[in-house]
Formats: sequence, structure tokens, C-alpha cells
Amino acid sequence: MNRDRLKELAADERFIGGIYNYCDRWCERCPQTSRCLNFSISEEDFSDPETRDIRNEAFWKKLSETLGEGLELLKETGKKWGVDLEALDSVSDIENERVSDEAAENHVICRAAKSYIDIVKDWFKKIEETPFGIVTVAGQGVDLEEAFEVIRWYQYSIAAKVMRAIRGKKEEEEESDVEFPSDADGSAKIALIAIDRSIGAWAVIPRYSRLHSEGVLEIISLLNLLRQAVEETFPGARSFIRPGFDSSVPNPAGPGPGS
Ligand code: SF4
Repeated sequence: MNRDRLKELAADERFIGGIYNYCDRWCERCPQTSRCLNFSISEEDFSDPETRDIRNEAFWKKLSETLGEGLELLKETGKKWGVDLEALDSVSDIENERVSDEAAENHVICRAAKSYIDIVKDWFKKIEETPFGIVTVAGQGVDLEEAFEVIRWYQYSIAAKVMRAIRGKKEEEEESDVEFPSDADGSAKIALIAIDRSIGAWAVIPRYSRLHSEGVLEIISLLNLLRQAVEETFPGARSFIRPGFDSSVPNPAGPGPGS
């Protein structure tokens, strides 16, 4: 996508600013695709099936072009506001980033969220190895398949969002002119939503299949503890208003299919 088209899309009032910052990235199920700039860019840039395949060179070429144009546009906008983005990437900035990442990664909540990734991986592996394993799901009903899909979808994003929240909180504490609403609370909120939905999905499994139930209660307990820790660390998270999801933002183009 060229810069002019990117500018045109960015100026389109139909889109809700930053909606994609606090969503779960499950675009197939999102009711707000028509109001999301990110979605529109992907649809235009990756409309060709070849460019949708991550194993294909065309995908990486397209991605690199889009990122390049986006960066140039960002630099151009920065200049207008008197900000030299090239100067921001000093050696000390990069080092500070590395230190922040490391501190966040070692935070107890992030370690718990990361351990959940492996626990889920092990659980599915074990199920796949049992006689009849995952194939029995087909005969057990849609709810169980749906539960597996939800668990898989949020398996990695819980840790990613928790990590972003912890990092953001530290940065906000260090900055004196903190802007509200807090981005850290927003990230924590989407992590909590992912945890809530995952707990709901895990809870479905024992109702359907004894074969699949082993270890499920322990996993739910871990998620419950994680949820409690996130809520205590980010007391403002639950009340954070995610634009387009927790608040209705009027659509200048009128009600769309996803409204
Ligand atoms: S807001 Fe919806 S359409 Fe946009 S990136 Fe998030 S999930 Fe996808």
C-alpha cells in the first residue's frame, strides 16, 4: 500500500482511533472490523491468497513494504510536530528498552503467564498422545471444539498482554506527565478478558469428556491466581474503557454490518 492510500485511510473518520490496541486480535470474530484501520489495511494489502501465506515470499515482501511505508509516514508526521524520530533510537534508548523488557519478563506475573503457555502445550500434547486423543472431540459436540479453539487462541496472548501491561506500568510510574487513560490498564484489561474466556473454556471440558479432564482443575486454579494477581496489580483495569468495545463511538458512515 502506498503512502497516499495509507494517509487517506488514516484520515477516514469511520475508524475508531487505536481500537486495535485493546482487542484480542481475533478479527474473524470481531464485531468492529468495519471501524478498524488495522483490519482495512490488512484486507487491502493481503487480499491476494499468496500474500496471506506466511510461508510464502510474497507475504514477507508485502509486510516489509507496508511497514516501510508506515514508518516513512510516521517520520513525516513526526517532522510536522517537530519530533525527529531518527534521533530517538540512541544506544541508551535501546539499552533502556532491553533492561525494561528483561525486568518485565522476570516479573512474577509474567513468569506465571509464560508458564501457562507451556502447561497448555503439554496438556494438548498429552491428549493427542492418548488413544483416540483429540479425534474424540469430533463426536463430543461443538462446545468442546469451541473450548479448544478459545484456549488455543488466548494461549500466547495472555502472556503478551500481561507483559505489555507490566512494562507500561513501570514506564508510567517513571514518567511525571502520565497521560490518562493508562495504556497499562488497557493491556491488563484485555489480558483479564483473555483469562476470563480461557477459564470459561477450560470449565467446559470436564462436562464433555473424562478422558480430556485430567489436569484441567489445576489449570483453572492457575488462571484464577493469575487473574487475581493482575486485578490486584492493576486496580483500574476492569473499569478501563476500550474504545469501540466498552463504549459506543458514533459511526459517521452510519451503522455498518459489524455495529
Ligand atoms: S479491533 Fe477487531 S478487526 Fe481490528 S485488529 Fe482487533 S480484532 Fe481485528
